[in-house]
Amino acid sequence: MEHFLTDEQKEIKELARQVAEEKIKPVREKYDEEAIFPWDIVKIFAQTDLFRVLLPEEYDGFGGKVMDLVIMMEELSRVDSGIALALGGTGLGIYPILLNGNEEQKQKYLPPVAAGEKLAAFALTEADAGSDVGAIKTTAKKDGDYYILNGTKQWITNGGEADIYSVFVLTDKTKGARGASVLIVEKETEGFSFGKKENKMGIRASCTRELIFGNCKVPKENLIGREGMGFMIAMKTFDKSRPMVAAQALGIAQGALEEAILYSKERHQFGKPISSFQGIQFMLADMAMKLEAARALVYATARMIDSGAKKYSKESAMCKCYASDVAMQVTTDAVQILGGYGYMKEYPVEKMMRDAKITQIYEGTNQIQRIVIASNLLKEYSKRI
Ligand SMILES: Cc1cc2nc3c(=O)[nH]c(=O)nc-3n(C[C@H](O)[C@H](O)[C@H](O)COP(=O)(O)OP(=O)(O)OC[C@H]3O[C@@H](n4cnc5c(N)ncnc54)[C@H](O)[C@@H]3O)c2cc1C
Repeated sequence: MEHFLTDEQKEIKELARQVAEEKIKPVREKYDEEAIFPWDIVKIFAQTDLFRVLLPEEYDGFGGKVMDLVIMMEELSRVDSGIALALGGTGLGIYPILLNGNEEQKQKYLPPVAAGEKLAAFALTEADAGSDVGAIKTTAKKDGDYYILNGTKQWITNGGEADIYSVFVLTDKTKGARGASVLIVEKETEGFSFGKKENKMGIRASCTRELIFGNCKVPKENLIGREGMGFMIAMKTFDKSRPMVAAQALGIAQGALEEAILYSKERHQFGKPISSFQGIQFMLADMAMKLEAARALVYATARMIDSGAKKYSKESAMCKCYASDVAMQVTTDAVQILGGYGYMKEYPVEKMMRDAKITQIYEGTNQIQRIVIASNLLKEYSKRI
């Protein structure tokens, strides 16, 4: 299908595809099996300037357009979404700075990310605060020119590997979610350490780790926005980053569909290629239709955000939810088309099915996306027009 990409977007797509095919594909199975963080690929992302896609020109980026980012994440995830997440997780980690940081913070933290010298991470989730982000317990107490942080974050993408962390804390415990704030914490800060590394079902080349703050002293200049803005910054970040998760889902589904088509032409049963059976053809047709519909929604949302739209929570939630549900369906069907071979690790579709699952869970589960969509719909139709 023609997606009317600009020349620049075609270049980003081509470059990301080349990196994915030539550098990621040969190592993806090993990195998944052994859960290796892809530092060598991160270096290639840096050399090929892919980190610059995350950022506006004033911070040494290529523009920071959501559509560009979507195209890049989709192409990388077509081959390995776990490896792509070193980049994606960094995008999520810098959004609070980009969206609400002051100029000094932006000039200090963003250019090294654009150059691929530093990775970033976004730290909100805690053991008892998943969907209910207002339940976080990590505190930051003001002490002169510093905040003193205490608490533990869990399941943080790029945890331990990143240099820059956007950490959500309570600066006023009495106010609940309205007492939440965000601080930039650098890796080497005293009192900041890393705990358990998770052993996961999918995206195994991505590191998911615990962050531990024990009387961690962070300069007060590292506060993003003002005290109490944390919850609002988290929601603004998700609105802008959810299309990136949707793009991951598109890439995974595209990779699985291609594998299923090629396999169905090669595999013979009953004296014929299985692609000649209508039962298989209908599955392929449904997979392709759902994927193109998801892509249309994701691209439309990305273009809407880039056009300067002020409100896009609903569209952002819709594209994340729909594309990730499609990725789960398409990868499951791809495994089915490959039959027993699809279940084996020699073929990439079993990995793609494992990788697809997380896109329905992180950056808000798909139940939470549906709550966001419905609450926006109900607000929009609060009166008969
Ligand atoms: C691999 C991985 C990487 C991650 N990376 C990050 C990261 O970088 N930074 C970060 O901060 N977090 C990260 N997370 C955390 C992730 O965002 C949370 O797991 C997610 O938001 C869901 O929270 P939970 O797992 O605690 O589920 P819960 O909130 O406990 O939900 C459990 C179930 O209940 C459902 N549910 C909850 N509330 C409602 C409701 N009101 N209505 C209907 N259903 C509901 C959920 O949809 C889900 O099905 C990561 C998680 C994983 C697994």
